[in-house]
Amino acid sequence: MVSDFLELGLSTEILNAVAELGFEKPTPVQGTVIPKLLVEDGDIVCLAQTGTGKTAAFGLPALEYLDRTNPRTQILILCPTRELCRQISQDLTNYSKYLDGIRIVSVYGGANITGQMKDLKRGAHIIVATPGRLLDLMKREAADISDIRTLILDEADEMLNMGFKDELDAILAQAPEQRRSLLFSATLPKEVEEIARSYMKNPEVVTVGQRNAGSDNVEHYYYMVKEEDRYSALKRIADFNPDIYAIVFCKTREETQKIADALQKDGYDADALHGDLSQAQRDHVMERFKRHALHMLVATDVAARGIDVSDLTHVINYNLPQEIELYTHRSGRTGRADKKGVSIAIINQRERGKIRRIEAVIKKQFTRLPVPGAREICERQLVHLINGINNVDVRDDIYSFMPVINELWDGISREDLVKKILSYEFNRFFDYYRKAKDLNIPEKEKKDRRKSSVRDSEDAASGDNTAVKGRKANDGNPGDCEKGYVWLRLNMGYKNRVIPRDIISIMKACGIGKKAVGKIEIFNEFLYVALKESVADYAKSQLNGATYDRRRLSASLLR
Ligand code: AMP
Repeated sequence: MVSDFLELGLSTEILNAVAELGFEKPTPVQGTVIPKLLVEDGDIVCLAQTGTGKTAAFGLPALEYLDRTNPRTQILILCPTRELCRQISQDLTNYSKYLDGIRIVSVYGGANITGQMKDLKRGAHIIVATPGRLLDLMKREAADISDIRTLILDEADEMLNMGFKDELDAILAQAPEQRRSLLFSATLPKEVEEIARSYMKNPEVVTVGQRNAGSDNVEHYYYMVKEEDRYSALKRIADFNPDIYAIVFCKTREETQKIADALQKDGYDADALHGDLSQAQRDHVMERFKRHALHMLVATDVAARGIDVSDLTHVINYNLPQEIELYTHRSGRTGRADKKGVSIAIINQRERGKIRRIEAVIKKQFTRLPVPGAREICERQLVHLINGINNVDVRDDIYSFMPVINELWDGISREDLVKKILSYEFNRFFDYYRKAKDLNIPEKEKKDRRKSSVRDSEDAASGDNTAVKGRKANDGNPGDCEKGYVWLRLNMGYKNRVIPRDIISIMKACGIGKKAVGKIEIFNEFLYVALKESVADYAKSQLNGATYDRRRLSASLLR
């Protein structure tokens, strides 16, 4: 894999455009695929998640070997949605900024076909299309693919999921034999394999990242609540993350609208995106989301396809999807390029099995997080507000008002003033959370406890450095802990049905990884967890006062 743009063999014009976009080094899919496309022949099937930089992986080489002196269509890119069509065209336009005279036309359903016919008539070196609309345009003889040299199927699995199989068959049957075909897909179900077998010539299969695996940059968490608390949990997640910029996935259009309406009513910048909206309404919602006027986009899977927003802070599964592959697609919307992403699932007690099944497919573990309580949320919000005030740009305009301001605040102490200002902004939070209940439910019923214990001993057997020294009926002192570690004592224990996995989750929620956790000893009322010296003080400060399972935690170190 090539890890420097300069070594990929791209022309200066393209390198300059890419540098202006702020791309510093090729992503893995670019480093792997671009050299193959520039130097070697042959078809390629590339298994890569969305958000890995695959548009440039196929787009940059395609632009390199385009013959600008030939006005006919040479490159055809098929993708599942209108949004993705537009995104790909925009990306190609950006990449070809310094290449004169390249015509890129995108055609998709839900838009006026006459305008698209006119665009095509003016000439298109590259057509970016959804299959249904392209076929329609081919039938009307407005699009001609008889001369294409390169065919790119982007998000092939999504195109098939969306029922474009017949259209694809019809289009591919008309594409010339002498062409290079590239297929990009996040997953490789049988249907995609069949397309590759039928329409590609001995394709080389390139896997970037693990097959079917979630993006390495994405952390997966779940919150477990009673079914009736699902919506409250969503609000808590939003309140606990004041800078949230998220897609909230729902199962149905009705639920999507209901949740978006409720969020709006409760004062959040949220809106719905689903198939019952007109194209103009969807465009309006997307435009607001892209410029961050909306902080939460509540969407169905179908409507969210092709949305390219690279700076999402969270993907939230308000409900887990029926098909596990959809989870991969959802979580792939965050953690794009080199950024970290967070995928959250809100589940009820009966859905834990689903989490385990997803873990098996994506080969990553979920961490259970406690639903934040009133105190943590209010503290986070306060810190956010104060940071906002600290960082505000004080403009000159304010100076002329200072006499009035000083008069109105004359005689008020600094402390009272701070309290008043913060309360003014904050009382609604205090009011809302004053009576807020703990939404957490215990991890385990009796039956599940046994299962969890088995998993825990499996963890220990698999080289995990967490040694569990049996549960002790009576409280007492722990034994010696490992060298370089220190015991942290927490005020919950066997009585509270805590198991080692919970402790690992709690530590993870504080930002402390498994490697910093040593032995765990659980007594009836208390537990002791050995932590690396370097993180112990930090853990104590994070845990003191936090809530877990309706308990206010108290942490101390045994030094
Ligand atoms: P894609 O998978 O093509 O949709 O790309 C996902 C996001 O990553 C887009 O916002 C791209 O602009 C961005 N991107 C693509 N390649 C790079 C790169 N080499 N460095 C940084 N960002 C990139």
